[in-house]
Amino acid sequence: MIINTLAANQRILINWGHDLRPNIASSHQDFIARSEGLMKQNSALIAIDYLDKQGDRRMGVPIYTERPERLPPINDPLISEAILRSRSLKTPSYSRVIEQYAPLWVLAIPLQDEDDNEGVVLVTYDLDQLLAQEVPWWFVKRYDLSLIDRSNKQLSPRDTEVPVNAEDIYKLAFGPPDSGLSLRASPHRNERSGYLLPLLSIAVFVFGLMIVWLLQLLQRWLRERLAAQQALAKELRFRDAMEHSLVTGLIAYDHRGLIIYVNPALCEMLGRTSQVLLGTRAPFAFWPVEYHAECAEAHGAMLRGENPVQGRLLNLLGAGNAPLWVRLFASPLVDGQHGPSGWMVSLYDNTELQREREALASSREQLYTILASLEAAVSVSSLDDGHLLFRNRHHQSLIQIDADAECCLLPWPNTSPGMLVKSAEFEMPDSKRWYHLERRCISWVDSSQVILDITTDITAERQTANAARERDELLQHTARLSNLAEFASGIAHELNQPLAAITNYSAAADSFMQNDPPHLPKAQQAIRRMGEESRRAGEIIRSLRNFIQKRPILHETRKLYSLLTEPLALLDPLAQRLNISITVNVEVSEQSVLVDCDAVMIEQVLLNLMRNALESVAAGQILIAHDAVQVSIVRELASQSVIVSVRDRGIGLKEPEKLFQAFYTTKTDGMGLGLAICRTVVESHGGRLWAEANFDGGACFHFRLPCYQADHQLVS
Ligand code: ADP
Repeated sequence: MIINTLAANQRILINWGHDLRPNIASSHQDFIARSEGLMKQNSALIAIDYLDKQGDRRMGVPIYTERPERLPPINDPLISEAILRSRSLKTPSYSRVIEQYAPLWVLAIPLQDEDDNEGVVLVTYDLDQLLAQEVPWWFVKRYDLSLIDRSNKQLSPRDTEVPVNAEDIYKLAFGPPDSGLSLRASPHRNERSGYLLPLLSIAVFVFGLMIVWLLQLLQRWLRERLAAQQALAKELRFRDAMEHSLVTGLIAYDHRGLIIYVNPALCEMLGRTSQVLLGTRAPFAFWPVEYHAECAEAHGAMLRGENPVQGRLLNLLGAGNAPLWVRLFASPLVDGQHGPSGWMVSLYDNTELQREREALASSREQLYTILASLEAAVSVSSLDDGHLLFRNRHHQSLIQIDADAECCLLPWPNTSPGMLVKSAEFEMPDSKRWYHLERRCISWVDSSQVILDITTDITAERQTANAARERDELLQHTARLSNLAEFASGIAHELNQPLAAITNYSAAADSFMQNDPPHLPKAQQAIRRMGEESRRAGEIIRSLRNFIQKRPILHETRKLYSLLTEPLALLDPLAQRLNISITVNVEVSEQSVLVDCDAVMIEQVLLNLMRNALESVAAGQILIAHDAVQVSIVRELASQSVIVSVRDRGIGLKEPEKLFQAFYTTKTDGMGLGLAICRTVVESHGGRLWAEANFDGGACFHFRLPCYQADHQLVS
């Protein structure tokens, strides 16, 4: 390396020497300039001098008037020796080391050419600098270096003695082969190795600890970073989910009114992608032509910061250009660092609500139209304070309300505030006309609870009903008269027989008494018969009186089944005598059926029907062991009534159409009043009595009574 540097310098200077003309100043200046450049590159090169043939310095670098002390004198014997040798050998030659302030080395380059330039160029090297410049740093680090001459004299460094250990000393030739210099290298003496090793170990240990600590720090930092990344990813996912699950449309405008953000809900509402919307400014494509002015006005107001708390209702073009009603709320877009930077707008889809409102308004209109055109007087009042909310034309003409009257409720007599679901009829005192009031509590168009009054003029209906009632009463009176006539003829007929018999028996008794001698036994028999006929006539009259006698019906709630007990007990002796049993077939579920009735009267009906059945079976003279007479009670759910049936297997009905006529009887001692009385009793209870042929032979009598409905007190 050193040889290369020295050789390179030598070559350069030989070339420059050739260009040097002793008497041409410009070549001198050129040489000096080049030399200065070379010295700047080589710090070890401390002087370049040009000596003429006589050995006088003609020029050089450094330029001086008096040669500096640090440079050896030009006439130094060692330099002269080198000049001589170089001239004689006609080749550059190095001097021996000149010990000045530092070991110096002078190269003499002889100049000989056709111009007879026999000068010499002296190149002075500082060996300390050369050593420092040319030996690699790593070599210096590992070895103690010293420059020695042939006699092993240490030339550099001079200040420190490098100890020589014969075992690990290395010698390297330094400089040109004939320089006699060598570089002695010995590994660094390790004087401090005694305490350096523990220090080094401690340092290694400390460094190890620091590395472990740093690794732990790094690991913790990585963990925190990972956790932060995960939290960030989670937050981003959450924000993404929130953004996608929002049903409210969001738009962000910058301060110039440019759209800088839209959320997916808004894109869906408008049926436009974010790419289409972002970066656009008013007028927007989603402003309908017919509402353009309103939209522009609202947009302008928003940018001016005029944003009402209740928002603005706007019509936009939604997906598929369908009308989209939205309520728009705007607020300043604040970025936390720089204050308001635009506007954040949220849009709530109001289309359905708007449609419902329009439908509601339309139905309200229809309702008002219908109510107004009704013939009845209709009014609607608040349930809370009775304030009049609506009344139609008829109501206005019918009822005068003072201007300051707050309440239209209770304009009618006979009504009270608590009467919310009632109907009433009343007569207006002034006009003497009758009205029917229907009062209901209903939900009004705004879903509030209100009182609806519908008042109808029923004067005409009432007059018609009165006329009909009067006609009915007249008819009933006529029917009663006709019944009375029929009844009277029946009585006359019934009484006629005993009276005729009495007349006959009295004539016979008279005739027997006028016999001579009087035929007393026959007369007595005739008189006895007269008595019997009289009793029969009396019996007929008493029965009639019972029939005609009107006593008030007692109403009590009884189990119908329990009313069978008394008649069965009364008929038991007759049934035993006739050897006929009465079977009662009543399901358990029917045994609890209640009726509202006069128990004694119903018992009489049951007694009469069962006795007729026994007598009919007895008259048949057929031995019937079972089910000759059956009594059953069956509930009829559809009509909320109960049917009692008395079925027999007797002689059957001869003239069914006459059964319920008073005095119709086929029995020798019958009165023919029982069934007529039974029918009257059943009908007076709101029921019906009828007869039909029994499919097994015999007759079947049924009567229906309404079931008791409410939870009345039970009297059993
Ligand atoms: P009475 O029993 O005094 O004759 P009712 O009015 O009870 O009076 O009966 C009228 C008539 O109806 C009876 O005479 C009889 O001819 C007929 N009748 C009543 N019940 C039956 C019956 N179960 N089977 C056949 N005929 C009957």
